[in-house]
Amino acid sequence: MSIDRTETRWNGWGWTEHLDTLSHTTAVWHWMASELGMSALLATPAIPLGEIELPPSRLASAALNALAEVVGESWVKTGKFERAAHARGKSYHDLLHLRAGDLETVPDAVVYPGNPLECLDVVKRCAERGLAVVPTGGGSSVVGGVTAECLPEQRGVIVLDTTRMMRVLTIDEVALTAVVEAGIYGPDLEEQLGEKGYTLGHYPQSFQFSTLGGWIAARGAGQQSNKYGKAESWLVATKLATPRGFWTTECFPASAAGPNLNDIVLGSEGALGVITEATIKIQKKPETKDYRGYMFNSFEQGLDAVRTIIQAKLPVAMVRLSDENETHFYRAFSDAQKGQSFGRTIKKKIEAMVLKSKGIGETPCVMIIGIEGSASQITATRAATAAIAKKCGGKSIGKGVGDSWYEGRFHGPYARDPMLDHGLGADTLETSTRWSNIKHLQEAVTEALEQAMRENVPYDGAHGIVMGHVSHSYADGASLYFTFVFPRDLEREVQQWHAIKKAATEAIVEHGGTISHHHGVGTDHAPWMVEEKGVIGVSILKAIKQEMDADNIMNPGKLIS
Ligand SMILES: Cc1cc2nc3c(=O)[nH]c(=O)nc-3n(C[C@H](O)[C@H](O)[C@H](O)COP(=O)(O)OP(=O)(O)OC[C@H]3O[C@@H](n4cnc5c(N)ncnc54)[C@H](O)[C@@H]3O)c2cc1C
Repeated sequence: MSIDRTETRWNGWGWTEHLDTLSHTTAVWHWMASELGMSALLATPAIPLGEIELPPSRLASAALNALAEVVGESWVKTGKFERAAHARGKSYHDLLHLRAGDLETVPDAVVYPGNPLECLDVVKRCAERGLAVVPTGGGSSVVGGVTAECLPEQRGVIVLDTTRMMRVLTIDEVALTAVVEAGIYGPDLEEQLGEKGYTLGHYPQSFQFSTLGGWIAARGAGQQSNKYGKAESWLVATKLATPRGFWTTECFPASAAGPNLNDIVLGSEGALGVITEATIKIQKKPETKDYRGYMFNSFEQGLDAVRTIIQAKLPVAMVRLSDENETHFYRAFSDAQKGQSFGRTIKKKIEAMVLKSKGIGETPCVMIIGIEGSASQITATRAATAAIAKKCGGKSIGKGVGDSWYEGRFHGPYARDPMLDHGLGADTLETSTRWSNIKHLQEAVTEALEQAMRENVPYDGAHGIVMGHVSHSYADGASLYFTFVFPRDLEREVQQWHAIKKAATEAIVEHGGTISHHHGVGTDHAPWMVEEKGVIGVSILKAIKQEMDADNIMNPGKLIS
């Protein structure tokens, strides 16, 4: 595998060595406290791994030997770091457990197969021994999708880590497809395709630490999904190692031979088998890129602009619209990082006056439009999008804001660990709905989150902040993404999170949104699957699961509980 996990944070995000610019900037923490109605923030460091005791591995040496026979002894790992790093994913809820040293759900071993046959053999040997298998790529799930747990009647759980399988196998330059091993990380995939001038273009914010198999299994979306598509638009076919043997899905550009079974693999979350290879659609790498910003007086105006751009079928790569709160938070956060009070510097006052003179008030919304392609495509699309933005009330704020978004597009997640060190909770959730319902849903979810945070914050006068944006859009609707930050209730942190999550998800379901646009179901959204799919829909999924994995060894408890 190309990433050495010992160089990454087992209980947080990214490279251990990544420079943490936040922790040393006291102004940010003063500002954050005041935004949340707190007089000061608390120091809440994570418990170091050295002070945490793991439950002993339940695997007898016969089971470990049986796995080692398949993959080689060095690829069956039972060391403390490996087990801890594969215990859970990267959701806020996961991090609460990991940082508190609660490693009750921890794999008994981590097994790294090197090819599809080894995957199949590992799955079969686990089935024979009553062991659960959690297929894991980057482990970046934020919905409890890789929690290493088994059913009470099972004898233990292994994490099957796919990241040794990391090659682009073939490229069909006529059909513009590639066959790729599923454990490949984002940067390796783009590098190998890039050598021949191609790209998949799937860049989730977790790109550096997530894999092709995880993107398919979680039905993910990259930041430039308008141009390159969500996983379901670029997947052509897959090969899975299941308890019943290999299963390869159909590989046609289109077919009327009944339902397309790729749709069962997309979003299967490891519950049916291990995706070992995938055939994907590729595109020529874009010659150039253009990201630039617009400012709107209100979220509604911005939504009108996004919808009009998408319904006009303009070839944009990304249209990202922040609501008033997110726009305020990021502008103020950036000032606080520089040690400045929001809006108080002379430069900022001049900026505000200029915007006011253009008709933009004090609570604007920022939109970033990204275009990728040839220079002439960019010129034409830029002119067309700028005209629509202007017609909807938007004002151009130039290229700088677009460039700085692009440059920092993978950095945001590094802010969460320092927040957790300061007694704060920070989580995200997402949904999608039709254009006709989008504003209503945004308001309902924002209100539900605000109220749930108010009711579950233990300090007088303190409250949470909710920020929202639209980042994936379609002719008939768009996704909504929420980030919420709140003071943690240190006496009941997990219950606090459950209460907030439940309130938000119930609001989503009640007001016509999906329980997930791209994060998936995992354990966190599984209780709402019946509301989403209906009783018959869930029973169909259960029947498929029973047919493919009769003993329920594949990622038990996820997707459908
Ligand atoms: C900071 C951050 C930002 C994120 N941004 C985005 C984003 O922009 N867009 C987005 O879509 N998601 C995002 N996510 C969520 C997550 O990164 C995605 O779900 C991603 O697709 C998971 O890939 P992974 O390789 O890490 O999979 P894992 O986390 O390892 O697994 C995810 C699920 O897929 C299953 N799985 C993984 N590999 C296989 C396989 N080979 N065969 C069968 N099942 C498998 C697992 O069992 C699990 O159920 C983000 C997460 C974080 C922490």
